[in-house]
Amino acid sequence: MKYDTIIIGAGVIGASIAYQLKHLSTKKKILLIDKNDKVAMANTSKSAALYKNLFSSKTSQVLANSSIS
Ligand SMILES: Cc1cc2nc3c(=O)[nH]c(=O)nc-3n(C[C@H](O)[C@H](O)[C@H](O)COP(=O)(O)OP(=O)(O)OC[C@H]3O[C@@H](n4cnc5c(N)ncnc54)[C@H](O)[C@@H]3O)c2cc1C
Repeated sequence: MKYDTIIIGAGVIGASIAYQLKHLSTKKKILLIDKNDKVAMANTSKSAALYKNLFSSKTSQVLANSSIS
């Protein structure tokens, strides 16, 4: 079977990319694979899933604030 895009890693980033690509074009064939049996078993599942902006660098603060918005 052929795919337009293969994404390796089914954490929040890989799953988000797969969702956005499919959202842009439902005809595209996208394969999302992971070395684990289930999705989001790495950092994503260990995350506290909080929004925070307690960073010391200006760049991280701007990024965090834009994400929160
Ligand atoms: C303890 C902890 C607390 C956190 N708290 C927060 C928080 O409060 N707020 C916040 O915003 N962020 C938090 N984070 C950070 C956040 O969880 C990560 O930035 C985010 O989940 C990363 O997502 P990811 O998809 O890039 O990586 P991951 O979720 O790690 O996904 C990567 C995937 O790739 C797969 N993979 C790796 N290598 C291969 C391979 N060779 N072949 C196939 N598959 C592979 C893995 O199995 C995994 O499923 C926290 C992280 C940790 C560890």
